[in-house]
Amino acid sequence: MDPRRLIAHLVLIGVLAAGVLALALTTRVEGTDRAGIVLELPDTVGLWKGDEIRYCQNPECREIFRLSQLEDRNTCPTCGGELSGGSLIEWGLLPGDTRILKKLYTHPVQSQVLVSIVIGGASRTSIHRPQICLVGDGREIVGTHALDIPLENRDELSVTLLDLLYRKLQPDGSWLANASYYAYWFISPDHETPSHYERMFWMAYDQIFHGQIHRWAYLSVSGQRRPGNDQYREQVQSFLAELYPRLERPPKNDGLP
Ligand SMILES: [Zn+2]
Repeated sequence: MDPRRLIAHLVLIGVLAAGVLALALTTRVEGTDRAGIVLELPDTVGLWKGDEIRYCQNPECREIFRLSQLEDRNTCPTCGGELSGGSLIEWGLLPGDTRILKKLYTHPVQSQVLVSIVIGGASRTSIHRPQICLVGDGREIVGTHALDIPLENRDELSVTLLDLLYRKLQPDGSWLANASYYAYWFISPDHETPSHYERMFWMAYDQIFHGQIHRWAYLSVSGQRRPGNDQYREQVQSFLAELYPRLERPPKNDGLP
């Protein structure tokens, strides 16, 4: 394990232990409603054109649309049900004050990229460890990488990049296989990390030592890859280098540390 991460894990354990005591003594924990980014994805990212994804909330329907296919962004054209930025399955896992936005980006030459932003609410259960939701039902993680994205005028962005493989046995005995990738990281008003555990550490730290729960954003970028070919990593880097500066953070003007 990366020594930096190991230290973070050990400190996390210490902070959580201290937290048990501190929470017993703390009178008030304040939800700040502050987030590290705005819940908005640009319509274009360089040559990429974005189209919002909308999910029907009727359990009998569950159709998925692109915004460009819809006349009314809130009403399912098939069943008349309500449309939302998250699927029924996601809303089953997340508290109601979570916000979800997804856009599918299409490029004239390269393969499509799906971007998702989940901004957690006051509860710590808003954001799960991504690995838990990505496996099962024929899907597995076959590679985990740390990927750095050089950015202009700031430190490079670090994301966790997972190689996924979906395999399903066909009735004729052959295997259907689909290789994809999933890159993610987390942002709060004060911190940014590619690690779920570091995020938990900072959440606990801010709660215990500052008495605050910030709204963390969980960002992910996913798409198809060709097995044995690393070219998708460059695509993720170039896409995020264009997207990141567009995710404007609100200025820190409230006097908080
Ligand atoms: Zn519907």
